[in-house]
Amino acid sequence: MSADTLFRGGTAVLPGGRVAADVAVTGGVISALAAPGTLSAAEVVDVRGKILLPGAVDVHVHFRQPGFEQKEDFRTGSAAAACGGVTTVCDMPNTHPPVTGAERFRAKRDLVAGTSHVDYGLWSGGTDLPELAAMAELGAVGVKVYLNRSHRADDPYADELSMPGDDTLRALFRACASRSQPVAVHVADHEQEARLRAELRAAGRSDARLVCRSYRGDGVLDALSGVLAAAAGTGCRVHIAHASLAPVAAIDRIDAARRSGVRVTAECGPPALLEDDLDRLGVLGVPFAFPAADADAYWSALADGRIDLVATDHAPHSRQDKAAGLDDVWAAPPGYPGVETSLPLMVDAVLAGRLTWARLVELTSAAPARLCGLAGKGAITRGADADLVVVDPGATTTVDATRLHSRAGWSPFDGRRLAGALTATYLRGREIARDGEVLPGPPTGRFLIPEGHR
Ligand SMILES: [Zn+2]
Repeated sequence: MSADTLFRGGTAVLPGGRVAADVAVTGGVISALAAPGTLSAAEVVDVRGKILLPGAVDVHVHFRQPGFEQKEDFRTGSAAAACGGVTTVCDMPNTHPPVTGAERFRAKRDLVAGTSHVDYGLWSGGTDLPELAAMAELGAVGVKVYLNRSHRADDPYADELSMPGDDTLRALFRACASRSQPVAVHVADHEQEARLRAELRAAGRSDARLVCRSYRGDGVLDALSGVLAAAAGTGCRVHIAHASLAPVAAIDRIDAARRSGVRVTAECGPPALLEDDLDRLGVLGVPFAFPAADADAYWSALADGRIDLVATDHAPHSRQDKAAGLDDVWAAPPGYPGVETSLPLMVDAVLAGRLTWARLVELTSAAPARLCGLAGKGAITRGADADLVVVDPGATTTVDATRLHSRAGWSPFDGRRLAGALTATYLRGREIARDGEVLPGPPTGRFLIPEGHR
């Protein structure tokens, strides 16, 4: 049988590394990988000189729907994803109302249906234990909990999703262990963080560097150890959200737990902002900007496997929201938009020699798909969804915030020159974005239900 589409003449990055191969797609699925020139199809896409990556899977985005549509919704967030080579996203539950129960889970699922340009899964909250099973049944990719509390009334982090105490956390871990459902944890020491903020604020200190550091007190390491011990004691699969929002020593603490048999994974975004960038960005770069040595440590951990995967924590606060921090840096919400720039930054890192192509696809596609049980996602392999990104390794990209698609309308990476360029994104064999623009037509993203919960 002849295929629908053939990607001819490119270099495909398979789980084991790069190979010169033609990739055939039939019915939206990769139907064959073969030596160049040996397959035929109704439509041929010439990818000579290009690299073919599996679409990226970003398991940590905030598309803010429902409740904060002025910041983002699935239509705009997923357009950013598509243009950034991200073909699957998993959205966090700290919306308004927060997704604490089955009724809200179903309402959110129904609300965003038909509006996403990329495939998507949804995380559930984890504070209302009797609701967990029903949300898993509806297809939650996992459970997200927060150990922090909000610092301001309009904080996007709803306290309804914050763990009230260790007993509840353990009960949650026990419940999820029985279903092998992952629990993603925002690790924090809220008391220490609040104390540090108050002290710095009282002293009139408002340097963005200090704000970044205030999130990374030693108390976070103690909180992390508590989470890892609870995971060890219950057998729960625990996932450490934004491991780079902790002192850099967290990397080895997580790794030691993993080696001792704890089922733990960790994510971070591309560690591409340095503290020095805060001279220019100020509050816009808070909280993911690092001293150069820490950034190098994160890059090493991404390369050698101590950090399992890349996820952006795409936090589309508007420039205006962040500007609340121009006069009072403590008043700005944390985070910045990142879903559209993540893969370009990672490709640049590969071309700069920081990591291999094989490691890239593990970090950005395969490992996140495994975490969330997304069968058919995360790899260029026969039988997988034909989610593909075409990369021109010889081109360069200059990040232009005016061309990005998040409603946030800005990027801390604006003006950054990157090696490589994403030239096209395909979702289940259909081209959805080209040269940084979404192609016309209705959004075709599907709601994904993890394997084991069908
Ligand atoms: Zn987040």
